[in-house]
Amino acid sequence: LRRNAGELEFHQAVREVLESLGRVIAKHPRYAEQALIERICEPERQIIFRVPWVDDAGQVQINRGFRVQFNSALGPYKGGIRFHPSVNVGIIKFLGFEQTFKNALTGMPIGGGKGGSDFNPRGRTDGEIMRFCQSFMTELHRHLGEYTDVPAGDIGVGGREIGYMFGQYKRLTNRYEAGVLTGKALIYGGSRARKEATGFGATYFVQRMLSTKGLDFEGRRVTVSGSGNVAIYTMEKVAEFGGKIVACSDSNGYVVDEDGIDLELVKQIKEVRRERISEYARLKGSRAHYVEGGSVWDVPCDVAMPSATQNELTGKDARTLVKNGVIAVGEGANMPSTPEAVRIFQDAGVMFAPGKAANAGGVATSALEMQQNASRDSWTFEQTETRLAIIMRSIHDRCAETAEEYGNPGDYVLGANIAGFVRVAEAMDALGVI
Ligand code: NDP
Repeated sequence: LRRNAGELEFHQAVREVLESLGRVIAKHPRYAEQALIERICEPERQIIFRVPWVDDAGQVQINRGFRVQFNSALGPYKGGIRFHPSVNVGIIKFLGFEQTFKNALTGMPIGGGKGGSDFNPRGRTDGEIMRFCQSFMTELHRHLGEYTDVPAGDIGVGGREIGYMFGQYKRLTNRYEAGVLTGKALIYGGSRARKEATGFGATYFVQRMLSTKGLDFEGRRVTVSGSGNVAIYTMEKVAEFGGKIVACSDSNGYVVDEDGIDLELVKQIKEVRRERISEYARLKGSRAHYVEGGSVWDVPCDVAMPSATQNELTGKDARTLVKNGVIAVGEGANMPSTPEAVRIFQDAGVMFAPGKAANAGGVATSALEMQQNASRDSWTFEQTETRLAIIMRSIHDRCAETAEEYGNPGDYVLGANIAGFVRVAEAMDALGVI
């Protein structure tokens, strides 16, 4: 703890994994030898850098950039870049640590990493975003490469930002190295279904989890937090599976629509106009209303899909959800439920899908994008989504089987942590003390 002082989210993420490992160490003591666990908790490399840029008023602005290259035992570092004012080294480390196990769970050849900046994109013009991305990549590019480290998007980083970063990488290196970033637009090497993949994947996971109890989404009330990339495509797939989305949110408040959230309107507001979710109620009228502040988890639902940010669903929220009869929770975001909230769900018998398993569809499809880049190929949407669905089913089943093997059937937290850990541990063991 002293070594990583003040890195609260990192401590939280590590503790959650370590709490699951007792049973696996008891069965395979060699995983505790040669400081393997200590090595897994220590990033291979942490890069922190200055990002200077000039705003539209001609003022020089300074932000801090991060890239934590956590673990490359299974493949090149892989994980998104986040632009949000809350970003600090502890948050990037927690995300990189989680990413390592998530990527292992996909069964694909990708290591774990994460990056970002405390840059706040909100209210910035297109020109400012571009200059920031170019300055960020001017330093970061020397640490990347299709065989080294392959970033993607995350909070505040979507197709536009990936485009500006790829443009700058290409210019600095004089290499058209499509496989160095994922989440690219289709026109320059992106994959169909990447944009949809995290939300679609989380929904596939929850659908499979529901099916183990003979249930499905049909006719169920579903609440989603956030209204960004993950939230939007979760809502799309849930609606396709017959669920009714009753609420979604942003960091200022939430909207409730008893007619079911109109997804085209959300896309128009968030993806085209880049406005706040409060606009939804104003434009929709009818039975929709906006609540400033408050918690979206106060809205009664059968299935909750937290898809905004870490620790957004507290113990109090979990108690409210349980009281209102929630049957399943699927984490689209990374670590959105606090440890207390997870305990409350599990004690109440609510099916709980942790982010490290449920939201792995995004990175899995990024790995499919890397495959397409390597073979100079471009698959159809159907082909890519079919692969995604198969991957999500196999992640689900691996977590469920592992939980059963280790004596706690239905505990997806335990299953995901052990299954992810074992794959990373096996690879590290094979590579010697590195
Ligand atoms: P976006 O930037 O597209 O959307 C984020 C959404 O969450 C916005 O609606 C945002 O609202 C809201 N939000 C962000 N911070 C907060 C906060 N502190 N409190 C309340 N709401 C907040 O990001 P993504 O959809 O890409 O990412 C969402 C989550 O999913 C993150 O945890 C990310 O790590 C995780 N994830 C993303 C993947 C991807 O492929 N994109 C893959 C796997 C996980 P506002 O506009 O007000 O900030």
